[in-house]
Amino acid sequence: MTECTRHTQCEFFNNQNFNSDMASIRMKETYCTGDFKSCARFMINTHISNIGIPFDLLPNQRTRAAQLISNLK
Ligand code: SF4
Repeated sequence: MTECTRHTQCEFFNNQNFNSDMASIRMKETYCTGDFKSCARFMINTHISNIGIPFDLLPNQRTRAAQLISNLK
């Protein structure tokens, strides 16, 4: 198991109300303890900072993340 290096400051990973449904649990398995470098939230954190990540951005929303990064540059 590979744990995401950003998990301590990640709202998706740490908010129990936000990520307790089955789809979110599966995304945590896929991204947070798996392929975290493919996560949309990780992508924004890498390109900008933790501050620019919308609360509701899901790990599988890479297209939205790319648009947000493009708008902020
Ligand atoms: S949602 Fe993304 S940035 Fe947050 S802990 Fe999971 S893989 Fe890391």
